[in-house]
Amino acid sequence: MSPEPRLLQLHDRLLAAFGPQHWWPGETPFEVLVGAVLTQNTNWGNVERAIANLKARGVLDFAALRGLELAELAELIRPAGYYNLKATRLRNLLDLLHHHHGETWEEVFRLPLETARERLLAARGVGPETADSILLYAGGRPSFVIDAYTFRVLHRHGLGLGLDYHGLRRLFMASLPPKVSLYNEFHALLVRLGKDYCKKGRPACVSCPVRDWAGGPAVAEFV
Ligand code: SF4
Repeated sequence: MSPEPRLLQLHDRLLAAFGPQHWWPGETPFEVLVGAVLTQNTNWGNVERAIANLKARGVLDFAALRGLELAELAELIRPAGYYNLKATRLRNLLDLLHHHHGETWEEVFRLPLETARERLLAARGVGPETADSILLYAGGRPSFVIDAYTFRVLHRHGLGLGLDYHGLRRLFMASLPPKVSLYNEFHALLVRLGKDYCKKGRPACVSCPVRDWAGGPAVAEFV
C-alpha cells in the first residue's frame, strides 16, 4: 500500500490547533483494557461510572474480575449500558487471555504485533477497534485505531474511499512512523475533530482548523 503523506500533515495541523489530548484515561493497563470493552456504544462518562463501581468493589484486577459471577459483573458495569452483553464480552476476553497466558495476561503484548492482534480478535465480541485500542493504549504497541470519526473525516476529503477498517488501518500504518505516542495522539485528535467539527449531520467546515487540508472537503455543500 502506498504511503499517504497528507495523513502526517493532518496530524500536525490538528496538534497545532487542539494541543495534546492526554489519552487514554486509565491508571493501569488492565483498567484501560476494561475501559476499551466497556466504551463500545456509549460515552466515556458512563464507562467511568462502571469502572468506579469495579474499583469500589475491589475487583479491578485480572484475577478478581475473572472470579466474579457473570451476573454480579453485569450489575457492576450496568452504567456502561448493554451490561449483560459487555459482561459476557469482558469475560470471554479474560478467559481467552487466561487460557493462553495464565494470570500474566500482559504477556500478550510481547507477541509480534499482528499475532497479539489476532489473539485479541479471537475473543468473541472483541472487534478491531477494541483490539487496536487495547494494543495501543494498554499495551503500548503501535497499532493504529480507526473509528467512525476517522472514516468520516477522510471520506469527506476524498481519502481512503473503498477501504474497510483493516485497509484504512494499513494506510495509516504505511504512512506514519510506527511511534506509539504519534498513534496515541493522532487517534485522540481525530476523535476531537469529529466531535467538535466533523459532525455526522452538519460538519462545521467554515470554522474547522483543517478546512483546507488535502484540498478541502470533497463535497461542496460542506464548505
Ligand atoms: S473541513 Fe469539514 S469535512 Fe473537513 S474535517 Fe473539517 S468539518 Fe470535516
